[in-house]
Parts: sequence; structure tokens; C-alpha cells
Amino acid sequence: MRIILLGEPGAGKGTYSAELVKRYGIPQISTGDMLRAAVKAGTALGRQAQEYMKKGELVPDSVVIELIRERIQERDAAKGFILDGFPRTVPQAQSLEKMLESMSIGLSTVLKIEVNKATLLRRLTGRRVCPNCGATYNIDTMKPKKDGICDKCGKELIQRPDDRPETIENRLAVYQKDTAPLIEFYEKKGLLRRVQCEGEYNEVMARIFDSLEKVAKV
Ligand code: ADP
Ligand code: ZN
Repeated sequence: MRIILLGEPGAGKGTYSAELVKRYGIPQISTGDMLRAAVKAGTALGRQAQEYMKKGELVPDSVVIELIRERIQERDAAKGFILDGFPRTVPQAQSLEKMLESMSIGLSTVLKIEVNKATLLRRLTGRRVCPNCGATYNIDTMKPKKDGICDKCGKELIQRPDDRPETIENRLAVYQKDTAPLIEFYEKKGLLRRVQCEGEYNEVMARIFDSLEKVAKV
């Protein structure tokens, strides 16, 4: 299966992806994670990306498109993948389409994760991440066992710089302007499925799996 998860920052794409990885045994490909890794490693690409990311702006299309081009050709992606945070603009979606065409493959579906704005804001402001292993928590809804400490590796949790309130508003505005047009883009291609992701975690996951069960395996 080749799946795109589409939705606002904070909608829960990363969290749901992790569950899909477990169930379908296909990798999660997150441009946000890849860019953060480049920033952490201090590469030239990372230094360039960091300037955009800390302001909540999008990194230039050319940069993320090249990252994806290489990543989807790796061996583990041959049986499928979950794209989380890519594409985020219409030109990115068009490039992806060309890449997949040249590999003679297509997308199985685009899941549009739907949550209301109050929930988004709560998820973003409450998010805490482990700088060591990348695990994600939420101080309201998905607390670590011990306050401020990663369950998996014991490191102290941090707030992502772009999860600060000043930056969040900009990220949501950027989503409306640059990413929301993808809804229509994929709707026209008959690939879009909307999933209501408000409510209790297990129920939300059940709705997501249910929606994917209906997707023909391509
Ligand atoms: P979010 O929680 O906002 O969905 P991500 O971890 O997906 O966060 O992305 C964090 C930041 O990384 C974005 O605000 C943006 O600066 C950059 N980024 C991630 N994916 C892309 C992309 N496909 N195109 C451009 N910029 C991206
Ligand atoms: Zn950790």
C-alpha cells in the first residue's frame, strides 16, 4: 500500500503513521523527521532548512522533492510506504506523481485527517518530543509514565521550537494557503478519503483502519 496522510499540523499524522507501520509493515516517510535529522546532523541541507522551519515556513520544494526521490527508491519502500508531511504543495504533489509514474507505481489512497481547530491547538501546544529517539507525547492526552521523561529511552523531553504559540499560527496559515489545495487535487483524482479523527484514540484508529480496509491493494 502506498498511502499519503494529509492534514493540518497537529492533526496526528505522525502518531497514526506509527500505528500503520506496525499493522502493515511498511515504512513511514516523514519529511519533517528527515529535515529535523539533517538539522541535528548539521549538514548543509539541515542548516538551510532550519531557517524556514523555525519560522514555521515551508522548506523549498526542490529540497524536499530530492529527499523524497531518494527515499522512495530505497529497498524498504518497495512494498509500500506511508507519506507523512509530503506532499505539502501542489508542485510537490505533481513531482511525486511523475516519480511514481516513472517507477510504474501509483498511490493507493490519500487519507485526509480531519480535526477541529481547538483540538489542533491542544495537540500542538501539548506536544513534547524526545530529542534522542523521536518518540512523541502529549502533556494532556498521551502523557509519559514519568513527567518530562521519555518512556522508551529515559531522556528528558523537549518542546519542538516550531510548537511555540507564535509559530503555530503561522504554520496553520501556511497550511491553509499552500497545503489545503491538495485536498481538491486528490479529490479530482478520486484518491481522497476523509477520516473524522475527533475523539477517543482507539476509536479514531479503528476508523482509520476501516477506511484503509476498503482500499484496493495496488
Ligand atoms: P507538522 O507537525 O507541522 O506537520 P512536520 O514535522 O511535518 O510538522 O514538519 C515540520 C516543518 O518541516 C514544517 O513546518 C516545514 O518547515 C518543514 N517541512 C516538512 N515537510 C515539508 C514539506 N513537504 N515541504 C516543505 N517543508 C516541509
Ligand atoms: Zn526517547
